[in-house]
Amino acid sequence: METKLNRKEAIKAIKMYMLLHLNIEEKGNILLGEGLDSVVNEDESWNQGEIFKHKNNKLIVGQFQFGALVTNKYLEALIKDLYKVDIEIIDQQPEIKQVAKCICCGYKVAFENEEIDICPVCYWQYSYIKNEESYSSPNHSSLKDYRENFQSKYEKDTDNLRYKIFSK
Ligand SMILES: [Zn+2]
Repeated sequence: METKLNRKEAIKAIKMYMLLHLNIEEKGNILLGEGLDSVVNEDESWNQGEIFKHKNNKLIVGQFQFGALVTNKYLEALIKDLYKVDIEIIDQQPEIKQVAKCICCGYKVAFENEEIDICPVCYWQYSYIKNEESYSSPNHSSLKDYRENFQSKYEKDTDNLRYKIFSK
């Protein structure tokens, strides 16, 4: 028998896993991306005391957002991968309510209300960024670099189905 979870519980389980398993460097980079310069010491080593503060947990799990474009099947597979258990998500996926151009690849993609999301074309994960050149932890890159990188992959692989399902 599989454990039955609703979507919200499944997402919470994934976030909890991330919170408990990310290493100091991964957590430090997320917090840096959120503008917390105090996580780095003057000698550029990580400031553990700051990184592991309880109040930072919210910022860390906040990096893992699963919007309407993330399917229940994907969440089930992710939990299996992380926890080595089978689960079944029992509720419906949220409705997609808004279509907008991706700030990274320019394709028209769907967004759930004001929730942040992952672009299904270029996989840019939406999260707060100060500007195009600031580091985005969930994307391990700045928007500017990510876009350039996507463009070069795109040019080499223009027949990819992903680029045909969506339009600019
Ligand atoms: Zn995109």
